[in-house]
Amino acid sequence: MISKALKMIIMGPPGSGKGTISHRIVKDFGMTHISSGDLLRKQIHDKTVAGLAAKKFIDQGQLVPDDVMVELIVNELQPIKSPNWLLDGFPRTVPQAMALFKKEPVDVVINLNVPFDVIIHRIEGRWTHMGSGRIYHTEFNPPKVKGFDDETGEPLIQRDDDKPETVKNRLQQYQNLTEPVLKHFDKLGLLKEFTGKYSNEIWPRVHEFLATKTVPHQFTHYD
Ligand code: ATP
Ligand code: MG
Repeated sequence: MISKALKMIIMGPPGSGKGTISHRIVKDFGMTHISSGDLLRKQIHDKTVAGLAAKKFIDQGQLVPDDVMVELIVNELQPIKSPNWLLDGFPRTVPQAMALFKKEPVDVVINLNVPFDVIIHRIEGRWTHMGSGRIYHTEFNPPKVKGFDDETGEPLIQRDDDKPETVKNRLQQYQNLTEPVLKHFDKLGLLKEFTGKYSNEIWPRVHEFLATKTVPHQFTHYD
């Protein structure tokens, strides 16, 4: 079986399950995962210049400026050898999308279309493992031991930007700045939309779709 290269983007409002679905895609299809949110949180944790600059925007639920984001992501994509990658959380504005397409062609864009009321409830109960980006929910997906990561046993944190006021700003920014990106990708014929409330409901459909685009992990040999 010949493996096909696939460069893809996953989109969706904050808290729509991009991280959860991305981890499942990585597991089953062996893509290299680049999450803009995880990258930014790592920069903040390491107290880099970019991290310090980004923190004040993130804490207010604002988007980090395009030039900072484009540089961060382009630097991350450049050394990747595998022709299969998955961008999660980038691009989020039309200028970011333009900058990306100048450097890299993209084959497919997935959009997770989850209602805003579901999202608000979900973000309120969300706990994150900083090191890996693994996500838990007090109700839907609790860790084995409350407050601690299943795999490392390290403490989970509740993100500062998951506070209700900040979540409202993030959803507003999504409507104003990110929805136009979806329209842009739709016009290019790249957009594939998945509507649902829960990751477990959306995931089988994403899996089925991707299986037509690529081959499962065990058949690929890029390392
Ligand atoms: P989730 O990851 O749960 O879907 P989210 O998409 O809002 O939620 P992240 O992707 O983790 O969260 O991003 C967190 C914050 O980082 C954003 O609210 C924004 O401030 C900043 N950020 C992440 N990616 C970008 C980007 N491409 N452009 C500008 N800011 C970004
Ligand atoms: Mg994310």
